[in-house]
Amino acid sequence: MNLLERIRQTSQMYPDRIAMQWREETLTYGELELYSSRLAAYIEREWKDERSAVAVYGHKHPWMLVCFLALVKSGRGYCPIDISVPQDRVKRILGLLQAGFYMDVTTEEEPGLRALEDGTAGTGEDGQGQQILTLSVIRKIAEEETGEIDLACALKGEDIYYMIFTSGSTGIPKGVMITRDNLEHYLDWSVTLGGVEKEGAVFLNQAPFSFDLSVMDLYTCLVSGGTLWALDKETQQDYKLLYDSLGRSGVSVFVSTPSFAEVCMSDPVFCEQLMPDLALFLFCGETLTNQTVKKLRKRFPKAVIVNTYGPTESTVAVTEVLVDDHMAEEVSPLPVGRPKPGTRIEILDEAGNLLPDGEKGEIQILGDTVSAGYYRNEEGTARAFYVAERDGRKLRGYHTGDEGYLKDGMLYYCGRIDLQIKLHGYRIEIEDIENNIVRVPGVRQAAVVPNIRKGAVKSLTAYVVADMTDLDVREALHEYLPAYMIPKKIVFMDGLPMTNNGKVDRKQLGG
Ligand code: AMP
Repeated sequence: MNLLERIRQTSQMYPDRIAMQWREETLTYGELELYSSRLAAYIEREWKDERSAVAVYGHKHPWMLVCFLALVKSGRGYCPIDISVPQDRVKRILGLLQAGFYMDVTTEEEPGLRALEDGTAGTGEDGQGQQILTLSVIRKIAEEETGEIDLACALKGEDIYYMIFTSGSTGIPKGVMITRDNLEHYLDWSVTLGGVEKEGAVFLNQAPFSFDLSVMDLYTCLVSGGTLWALDKETQQDYKLLYDSLGRSGVSVFVSTPSFAEVCMSDPVFCEQLMPDLALFLFCGETLTNQTVKKLRKRFPKAVIVNTYGPTESTVAVTEVLVDDHMAEEVSPLPVGRPKPGTRIEILDEAGNLLPDGEKGEIQILGDTVSAGYYRNEEGTARAFYVAERDGRKLRGYHTGDEGYLKDGMLYYCGRIDLQIKLHGYRIEIEDIENNIVRVPGVRQAAVVPNIRKGAVKSLTAYVVADMTDLDVREALHEYLPAYMIPKKIVFMDGLPMTNNGKVDRKQLGG
């Protein structure tokens, strides 16, 4: 059974079971199945010759799921865009996608796609720009449409199922294309993680849908007939709302970055008494420390903790390790795990030679969940992806840019070999920030340096050559970059220090 058939089966067996809850807004499996099929029929009729992946804009609204499945059922991929992405970046993504329409699942309190100023997106009624299907229009179609669509029309295995945009060093985000086969291979494994029963479980959704960590909770949940419990940004930033929501959630599978678990642990109330059903912590995206595990084990002695590793380019995660008390005490740093079935990890030196056990080099991921490449970016795709033959089979490979080593089949992560960082769980290319700072009129040069404490990036400092104030730069940057990418500190200089070969000397700036 493929993933759409599994969701359909749950909707037939348990139509009233809640597929997703966000605040007071709920969506049952029966509604998800029916509305997505009707919407798919409408889309297929209206945009018959238009097959590009379609942007779904919003934050945590359950109807985003209706749109995702509607697009997939109609034979189109989707591209989730969170409302925290600034307008300029949204425009760049929409410009790349060039779909005939967009889906805007924002509520009245949230800024919608119509807020895009220059008519990149129009209503369609006046013939300007692409048509935007707003939440109220989408709901109306889903309620009134009489047609439904056969699952045979859905995306095929090799088709692009979703596209997630990550920070790109040129300043333009890269669209990682994930096929339905990629996703299904990933799901075959993710439902087994931690050896914990997931059928009908409540999954925590922390990450916005535009980050691939959300795929770990969203789809593992949907194929397990579970309930997705979404925490929006406001709830995550207000402790009272956060603990109140977690306490009511019944979450048994807690999917998040280690940073978010640390945020939750700021108060002793975050413990077994608050979340008695919690059986599994699934971590991905950044280094999990022994310290975090030890603290969690004290607060949730019955829960299993699993560390996973992988980039968006290989579909969420490809290695896993169960971190028990013994490992938390004895092994430091913690490993990131062993590869899932269908994945092969290799470590290469700079010349591309395979390194033996224990030797550090670049982590390569090969196998069935490696992406088809970056959307409309042949150069980037050719640089990062490759095809290799192993044991008589052709495998897709990805150069991760991560440094690590293998020991008895277990992978250890040591950091990046380039200028990509993780800040509070967000993946950022330092050059992406720099290239956007120099877009600000009046800025001549910029270098961004991460401030590292205890091995983790805590904040960013920008060194800028410009004739303007800190406030001006900040204000302009909000147009180009999401808030988490804007450096905490901006230092103005007359000129940036240079190395002998004419590059900015990051070392002198503390980088
Ligand atoms: P993303 O594409 O946002 O998932 O970011 C992928 C990058 O996050 C990887 O290339 C690693 O640098 C880092 N990463 C992912 N998982 C882990 C982990 N378990 N431990 C340390 N770093 C990780």
